[in-house]
Amino acid sequence: MKCPCESGLEYSLCCQAYHAKPGTAPTAEALMRSRYAAYVLGEIDYLLATTHPTERQPDLAAGYRSTAESIQWMGLEVVSTFQGGKNDKIGKVEFKASYVQAGQRAIHHEKSRFKRHAGQWYYLDGVIDDQAL
Ligand SMILES: [Zn+2]
Repeated sequence: MKCPCESGLEYSLCCQAYHAKPGTAPTAEALMRSRYAAYVLGEIDYLLATTHPTERQPDLAAGYRSTAESIQWMGLEVVSTFQGGKNDKIGKVEFKASYVQAGQRAIHHEKSRFKRHAGQWYYLDGVIDDQAL
């Protein structure tokens, strides 16, 4: 099957390796794409493992689970990236992900921040500006 992150690659040649071993995505954008794919596939453990340790609130797993269960993701577009490369400590990725929730189409528009911790990329937080279509 094609990878849900829309790289055009087979899942087995793309995000599957990151899902099997959290912390191995080499760039902030690769991590962001693999987290989108994890939402599509319901890989809640991966979403938790790739959230920065300072942001792991007690209700985080329940939040990820309810989002994954209530939303049908329709596509991903990476708008822009800032740093987040192999030699960076922080990274930003702006993306738009279209989805359907309770019959309503919408766009999840987020400017996410990523931070390296102990050599691995983690999702820190994001500014979200969702729009109904
Ligand atoms: Zn992928």
